[in-house]
Amino acid sequence: MEIIDLKDGYKFQMINTKSFAVSIDDETKVFCPFCYSKIDESTDCCPTCHKNIPQLIYFHGDDQTWIASGNE
Ligand SMILES: [Zn+2]
Repeated sequence: MEIIDLKDGYKFQMINTKSFAVSIDDETKVFCPFCYSKIDESTDCCPTCHKNIPQLIYFHGDDQTWIASGNE
């Protein structure tokens, strides 16, 4: 699990079995949720930051953070 930042203009969205950052203006644009590099939704491991794309991204309300899980 890892804490990640949600940038302005993006939301986190599950596509198939993984969770990505997508542009709010154009949901067909998919980005790495860690480094926000443009990637393809079939990507398993980001070629820029070398992190695995998480299965799930959820909001942890107690401390107002987004958590990525299933990327170990
Ligand atoms: Zn990345």
